[in-house]
Amino acid sequence: MANSWRRERWDSLRLLTPNWQSRLPGLRYEGPDPDDYMTVAEVTEFIEHFAKVSRAPARTGVNVTSVRQAGDGYHVTTSHGEIHSRTVVIASGACNQPTVPQFNDAVPASVEQLTPFDYRDPSRLPDGRVLVVGASATGVQLAAELKQSGRPVTLSVGEHVRLPRTYRGRDVLWWMDASGVWDQRYDEVDDLTRARQLPSPQLVGTPERTALDLNALASMGVELVGRWGAVRDGHGLFSGGLRNVFSLADLKMQRLLDTFDDWALTHGRDAEVGPPERFAPTRVPESTRLQLDLRSGEIRAIVWATGFRPDYGWLDVPVIDAKGQLRHAGGVVDSPGLYALGLPVLRRRKSTFIYGTEDDAREVIYHLARYLAVRR
Ligand SMILES: Cc1cc2nc3c(=O)[nH]c(=O)nc-3n(C[C@H](O)[C@H](O)[C@H](O)COP(=O)(O)OP(=O)(O)OC[C@H]3O[C@@H](n4cnc5c(N)ncnc54)[C@H](O)[C@@H]3O)c2cc1C
Repeated sequence: MANSWRRERWDSLRLLTPNWQSRLPGLRYEGPDPDDYMTVAEVTEFIEHFAKVSRAPARTGVNVTSVRQAGDGYHVTTSHGEIHSRTVVIASGACNQPTVPQFNDAVPASVEQLTPFDYRDPSRLPDGRVLVVGASATGVQLAAELKQSGRPVTLSVGEHVRLPRTYRGRDVLWWMDASGVWDQRYDEVDDLTRARQLPSPQLVGTPERTALDLNALASMGVELVGRWGAVRDGHGLFSGGLRNVFSLADLKMQRLLDTFDDWALTHGRDAEVGPPERFAPTRVPESTRLQLDLRSGEIRAIVWATGFRPDYGWLDVPVIDAKGQLRHAGGVVDSPGLYALGLPVLRRRKSTFIYGTEDDAREVIYHLARYLAVRR
């Protein structure tokens, strides 16, 4: 139960979604701090509580090792026996394995390498400079924590999504929710493939509602370098295009804030929020290092915060594309009776968030029920 939250998260992690947004069908946060962010222990408890109140017939500690088409449905092999089922819903998560670029093989063995699944807290890392690769939610959070532990930190920054924690006095995720951005459907999104690959926003959930963008990290003393492209002769080679990457992220944030302002104005909500705000552009460092000598001993550890991917190693149905992604249309998988939930922009922009599943699940299960009814 709540396996990914129990085993695959670091100690200090809090949700970046506020408590009022932690909702599952029939269960919502009812504690005293709706604007705070749950710790990992609180998320685990919330999911366990949901299992109890929903009375879902959950069997825990059961590993599915194979699903294959058989007769009028699917033959499922598990660590606790075999099951035949006419339909299967794949809800095995979008983040089963950390993604690490292949050139990590060429990193000298003297540099310790970790993924967010290995990382628990700074004390497990050797002393000395840490290179954090990736500046999305995981990367910015770990870079800040490592810097605060007293280590020098270099952060390699590629494409990213910049967001303020609060805007006009409200959590930025309130705006995403209220203005309908997160409800945008998969069949209304202009470029669905791209929307499904968008990096997570640079957000952290702290009681102080701290913004954790690159300006905040640079002010803390985190060194910023460009996207890591290759390792050659023991040197990490980094792109020099930070200015472009920063202005693109600033521009997209600006456009999103404009959308919020328009929405507030046209929906008569202007008076209940603060005045429009504009944020300083991301500061471009005067000079950035394009190479780091990984053999010099300066970099002692690398944390790969380069994203996560699903693992379908157990799925023996030919529905995985060349990029390792499930072929589906809004959760209806390309094999009769097979369904999916919890994948990026499955049916809406909010699909991978805890509170995003409810609307998707209702529609996917409606399709599944019709499929069964027609066959009966
Ligand atoms: C670092 C991080 C931070 C996040 N922060 C937030 C946040 O702030 N707010 C938010 O709403 N969401 C957040 N998410 C997304 C979050 O993971 C999802 O909202 C939520 O956990 C999705 O639930 P899920 O059940 O779809 O997937 P998961 O939580 O991944 O659960 C999938 C389950 O399936 C199990 N499983 C996989 N394969 C098999 C198999 N073969 N047999 C049996 N079981 C299997 C896994 O063990 C796991 O228990 C975060 C994700 C990550 C990685």
